[in-house]
Amino acid sequence: MERIHIKGDTWYLDAPRASIPFYKLGDGEVVLLDSGSEEDGDIVGHFREHGERVAAVLNTHGHLDHVHNNVPLREAFGAEIHMPKLEAAMQESLLGLKAEYNPINYRIIQQVFAHSLFSADHLIGVDQEAVTVGGAVFRIIQTPGHSVSHVSFVTPDNVCYAGDVFSSPDLLSKARILYTFCYAEDLKSKKKLARESCDCFITAHRGAFADGRELARENIRYLYERVELMLKYLDRPMSREEIYRALFIGLGLHGGSPWKESNTLNMLGALIEFLQTTRRVTTECRDGVFIYTKVPGAEAWDIESELSDL
Ligand SMILES: [Zn+2]
Repeated sequence: MERIHIKGDTWYLDAPRASIPFYKLGDGEVVLLDSGSEEDGDIVGHFREHGERVAAVLNTHGHLDHVHNNVPLREAFGAEIHMPKLEAAMQESLLGLKAEYNPINYRIIQQVFAHSLFSADHLIGVDQEAVTVGGAVFRIIQTPGHSVSHVSFVTPDNVCYAGDVFSSPDLLSKARILYTFCYAEDLKSKKKLARESCDCFITAHRGAFADGRELARENIRYLYERVELMLKYLDRPMSREEIYRALFIGLGLHGGSPWKESNTLNMLGALIEFLQTTRRVTTECRDGVFIYTKVPGAEAWDIESELSDL
């Protein structure tokens, strides 16, 4: 696994599924920003080979592909886990994880997360602005929306790790749809992060980029394009299932495992909620079935004006 130098003591691991940043504290100690997924290889072995000890993991949020190696790193090095407290609370029980991934059924949650529960050592508050590890101060930028309490970190070298707030242009060009818990807040967080005058922005999926504003523009444009696509398919009053079917076919989404299918439906559900939030659709309950109707003129979404304050 290649390690790529960004600036000063800030580096990242070029893992198979993620860019995993780390900061060298000195004396062979490092701080990891997220810990990667099961598919990201032997993270513990990598630092052992370099004779380094992981003193802490700073987690942006609790998604499985960002926290999978937390416990192995704690067992191997005594790494202390820092995590936003709302995210951390959900990692402690299967019902907490069910709340995070609602409405995925409990049996799937039990199967996927049976061996993934853990407790964080340090909780990051919703107003917290920094965390200090081994004398190094990491600035915290509260960036909720992708998940309930996502945060981004800025290393002492002024390098921002954006976690899942930003995706790389390469991923945006390939991904049929990306996960967002709440579009309205995620869009605010993308703009907030873009206004930070950091020297570099690392995205979890993946790579490092100098221009945060351009990165934000591309990510925001991607979200609005997905929203507009849903509006396009909503050419008559439709039930939620009819909308899902139209998007599955229209975007060429594939099923995969029940876990993946359920996650995909959650992504589409977030799109519907954004249309409700922004009054693009009206909703009425007809004999127990919610029917969504496009508001006349709702397709006139001016993406460029949405980006004009960036
Ligand atoms: Zn995520």
